[in-house]
Amino acid sequence: MKSLRVLLVEDSEDDALLILRVLTRAGYEISFQRVETPEGFRDALGTQSWDIVLSDYSMPQFSGSDTMRMLLESGLDIPLIIVSGAIGEERAVEIMKAGASDYVMKGNLARLPPALERELREAESRRARKQAESQVQMLSRALEQSASLVMITDPQGVIEYVNQAFTQVTGYRSGELVGVHSRVVKSDTTPPETYEQMWTTILAGDTWRGELQNRKKNGDLFWVETVMSGIKTHEGTITQFLSVQEDITERKRLETELQRYTTQLERMVEERTAELRRAKDQIELILNSTNDALALAQSNGDIQTVNPAFVDTFGDRAAKAIEYILWALANEEQINLVGDALIRVIFDSDSKRVEAQVTTKDGSGKDIDLALIPVRMSDHDPKSGVLVSARDITQLKDIERFKARFVADAVHDLATPIAGLSTRLYLLQRAPEKLAEHVGALQNQVTHLRQLLHDLRTLSNLDKNQLISDLRLLNVNEIVRRVFDTFEPIAADKEQQITFEPAPTLPEITLDAHQFERVIVNLVSNAVNYTPNRKAIHIKTTLDEDTIVVEVADQGIGIGPEHLPHIFERFYRAPQARATQETGTGLGLSIVKEIIDQHGGKVSVVSTLGEGSTFTIRLPIE
Ligand code: ADP
Repeated sequence: MKSLRVLLVEDSEDDALLILRVLTRAGYEISFQRVETPEGFRDALGTQSWDIVLSDYSMPQFSGSDTMRMLLESGLDIPLIIVSGAIGEERAVEIMKAGASDYVMKGNLARLPPALERELREAESRRARKQAESQVQMLSRALEQSASLVMITDPQGVIEYVNQAFTQVTGYRSGELVGVHSRVVKSDTTPPETYEQMWTTILAGDTWRGELQNRKKNGDLFWVETVMSGIKTHEGTITQFLSVQEDITERKRLETELQRYTTQLERMVEERTAELRRAKDQIELILNSTNDALALAQSNGDIQTVNPAFVDTFGDRAAKAIEYILWALANEEQINLVGDALIRVIFDSDSKRVEAQVTTKDGSGKDIDLALIPVRMSDHDPKSGVLVSARDITQLKDIERFKARFVADAVHDLATPIAGLSTRLYLLQRAPEKLAEHVGALQNQVTHLRQLLHDLRTLSNLDKNQLISDLRLLNVNEIVRRVFDTFEPIAADKEQQITFEPAPTLPEITLDAHQFERVIVNLVSNAVNYTPNRKAIHIKTTLDEDTIVVEVADQGIGIGPEHLPHIFERFYRAPQARATQETGTGLGLSIVKEIIDQHGGKVSVVSTLGEGSTFTIRLPIE
């Protein structure tokens, strides 16, 4: 059952019931209100919505014409059917003209349902049309006001519509665009393939999305993000193309700018990183190649960086924490000294410099000059970190020590013959008759002094690297033979059995003949001097793979083990030697060592006190 809201304008209740019955029978479920005055009618219109107004034509207080007028005035679109007694033809036409939808005679109420049906249908379609119209209006307003650029073209691309945003952005008036092909806004910066792809997509009935660079009327370019698709009929034929575009010129500009900034920033970061890496490499190179031991420690004592020289000097433990430096120190006194300095640096931020002795990883002793420098490690830590720098000053210290001893020894060794000279001169004055004896003794002292000066000069020249100058290919056997020949008669004087056993063949090697001869002379003369009468001296040359070996072995006084390590030092003389040979200078062996060192060779000694000594020289054959 269809429901129907009926507003009845009727003074006769009976007629009203009759009408309602007809409608109920026609299948309507009725809700209704009956009015018979203009006020009642107006009220009823205002309070509720109605599907139909059925109005009598002539009533005591009201007429069908009034109903129509009031309905028109209300602006409501409700169909009105006049249901009245007989009216003339003329009146009927008038009524219809005045706006009634239809009229039905009360005597022919059977006509009412179909008439009503038709009116309802028409009213419905009127409403639908109105609604559609207002929707179109709303949409076209929205389209006009939209910030997006909207363009509609025919299937060939000829512009049919552009909205305000489109004209605003492009600078064209709508009239200049409509009827013109849409390529008018095309720029040549967009590659043709993009357009081809676009046309293929939209002609296939799909939606194309993409970015296009278009041209304004004034020639300026602008970027749009475009969505384009065909408008189709029910049958699927494309009648138009719709293109909705967002102006993304500003976004593109920002993107490009951002890209430029990013690239610039990346380049800067890269350059800075490369710079830092270079600086780091350089610092590492310096750290790794310097002989100074360097370490950077935090204020809590943790070591942050060390170089290889540091590990060599202080060991692995010290590379972890700063207090381990103390482990390498030679004695308690040094530990206190360095420990105090470390505390002062960390807590008072004072630089400290101390000299200390350490035992290095390989067990050897070293003198070091230790610089402890406070370093600010971070903004948050008020205490300082420490930069430890240790320089190996062993050589410097050795030279200092050597210089001091050398001067003392030289003074002593010069004083002895001078004292001998003055004693002898005094004796000469007292007993001039023993002239020959005094002259002989004076002669001895002078010879000793001359020998001393000669040795000192040799050493001084060796120190200046000036001695090894005349290098030639020579046969060692020949030189040793010459020295042997010189000493044979002297040894014979002492009834010593001196022998020379040369290697059958020796390759020639590069030598300074004069200096090498001095070496052999020193060794053989020592052997003769420190060997008692009638004992044997044996000189021998051999070839040991790529080394030429010269041995001078004697059955002399020998050297005690406590003196052996020192006999190559300048001025060093073992007490047994002093007793045997008063006039020695203590310089001969140090000269031997220097010369052999400078030839790239080695000299060594094996000796037993009271039994004899064997000195061995080893010279590489290149
Ligand atoms: P010098 O012989 O003038 O004392 P050298 O430098 O030649 O000085 O020798 C140093 C020391 O080495 C000697 O004083 C002596 O104690 C010891 N020495 C050298 N050669 C021998 C040797 N063949 N036998 C015993 N001791 C030696």
